[in-house]
Amino acid sequence: MEFCIRDDDTSFFTLPEELERAYGETSQWGRISLAVVPFHRAGTSKAVPEQFRGQWSVHPLHNNRALVEYLRTAVSKGRFEIMLHGYYHDEPCGQREFSDGNDLGHKATDGRKYLEDLIGAPIRVFVPPHNSIGRGGLRAIVGANLHLGCVAGLRSGWSPVSQRTWGTWLKLRKWRKSGGLGIPWVLDLGDHREIAGNPVTPLSRIDMNKAIFEMTQAMGGVFCAATHYWELDVPSCHRGEPTVGEQLRQLIERARSDQRVMWRSVGEVLSSSSFVMASNVN
Ligand SMILES: [Zn+2]
Repeated sequence: MEFCIRDDDTSFFTLPEELERAYGETSQWGRISLAVVPFHRAGTSKAVPEQFRGQWSVHPLHNNRALVEYLRTAVSKGRFEIMLHGYYHDEPCGQREFSDGNDLGHKATDGRKYLEDLIGAPIRVFVPPHNSIGRGGLRAIVGANLHLGCVAGLRSGWSPVSQRTWGTWLKLRKWRKSGGLGIPWVLDLGDHREIAGNPVTPLSRIDMNKAIFEMTQAMGGVFCAATHYWELDVPSCHRGEPTVGEQLRQLIERARSDQRVMWRSVGEVLSSSSFVMASNVN
């Protein structure tokens, strides 16, 4: 099976020490895929430090030189992969940037080029802020030649006139009805691919993620852990559950202890996984 880690919200506001503390050791074992915001707007995201929150000022990544240098070095050593995580990330009035926003074609193309030029590495994957995307957002990322680091679904972007859409939808429905957990495949929608993230957050439960992992392992499928570096010390909302960081650590230990698990980046899995659903639907 293939295992990858997606970490959201690296931006101007991120300190290199925070990423180093979260992944300094882990990224020596396998590449971590960072979803990076190119021009973070200081709105309501909990990743924005409190003193900036609600100011709605825009903060380009290149103004944090220490972080840019850190990312360039770490990417060149194969410790991190960079993915695109929205453009401004935060929108006023609770809007979701890539489901409610406008000018998305420009934001996807320009955001990709900006990060590629700044960090010096190719970008293959788009992760929408709040995992929220719509039809216009999906068109924009396909136009920017990017895959999707979550699952859009029928209501949020898949074309209702595509046979692949319905083939994928039917297979997923069958999977769930038979007791299947998570989505252990890369989904091939024809013009792009998608991978589901398994949340590792204060709301997640380690036993559920372990159950999804074991089911995925039995099928030789794909498992993507989705988390936030700024949340690793946060206690679980559920009594008796380990912290977010401890939940992630247990999943990593499970992956590392099994020689049948291949640790890859999200971009690698999306570009070249051998476990792709719907490739035979037409
Ligand atoms: Zn985010």
